[in-house]
Amino acid sequence: MNQSEIGPIVNGSKCCSTKAVVDDPDSLHRKKTAIRLAGPSKFQVIADFDNTLTKYWVDGCRGQSSHALLQQENPEYNAKRDELFNYYHPIEYDPNIPVDEKTKLMEEWWGKTHGLLIEGGLTYDAIRSSVASGVIAFREGVERDIPVLIFSAGLADIIEEVLRQKLHRTFKNVKIVSNRMKFDQNGNLVSFTGKLIHSLNKNEHALDMAASLHDHLGEVDDQIIDSASVKKRTNVLLLGDHMGDLRMSDGLNYETRISVGFLNHNIENSLDSYRKGFDIVYLDDAPMSGVVKLVSELFSPATD
Ligand SMILES: [Mg+2]
Repeated sequence: MNQSEIGPIVNGSKCCSTKAVVDDPDSLHRKKTAIRLAGPSKFQVIADFDNTLTKYWVDGCRGQSSHALLQQENPEYNAKRDELFNYYHPIEYDPNIPVDEKTKLMEEWWGKTHGLLIEGGLTYDAIRSSVASGVIAFREGVERDIPVLIFSAGLADIIEEVLRQKLHRTFKNVKIVSNRMKFDQNGNLVSFTGKLIHSLNKNEHALDMAASLHDHLGEVDDQIIDSASVKKRTNVLLLGDHMGDLRMSDGLNYETRISVGFLNHNIENSLDSYRKGFDIVYLDDAPMSGVVKLVSELFSPATD
């Protein structure tokens, strides 16, 4: 299995070891060298949100996604969204449905879900309380100050609220490309802005469309970042937990990319494809410390 142990890694006050699989260490070494030589100004992190920055397990329960934790004031609409989930979620993972057909169905699912959020009268207050009571937590080490573009098929406004509530700090370096809501002055959801991003279109098209149609990529800590600055950073560290996340960097025309996959479950069946797709695969809901260490290796003058 060529499984190498990286560790022990100091993680807060605890010491733990993280299981990582690197299929081609020479290739990884070459990429690290290329990124280091080009320097930090050419570098960016593109990360999926659900189950990548956040944990798969939270205190023994499955962690919730930005969609799943959202509770509307009108419970009828939560039930309607659950019904959609029960219908479409098996389709999302059905290997027998062709991608084209599946993509249309995912658009349909996301479209209907967004429609129910508007129709059911979602307010920003409901987002705040949903995040407060949701089962969601960041991987240990996410609080480190790495510049990140979060690219998610979830909901931008919820992701921002999770950042505020769970990490209790401002984020100069965080940009979010996701489905963004528009509220009226009373805090009622009126529409979504930009191109709809679902689980199967996190590619060039989605990044381009989202970046040009949204006024900007996010305004956490009042920082406004345009898509041009994102596109200038052509060395990428990509973080994801699905094979489809590998497409998040398609729109960048990147020079060098190191991809990191978090394989949280179904390891036996998925490891082969993950190790071929991602340069590094972390197993078992690993902390972020391996990634933090990798970034510090890339840009610390003291390391080789
Ligand atoms: Mg994910």
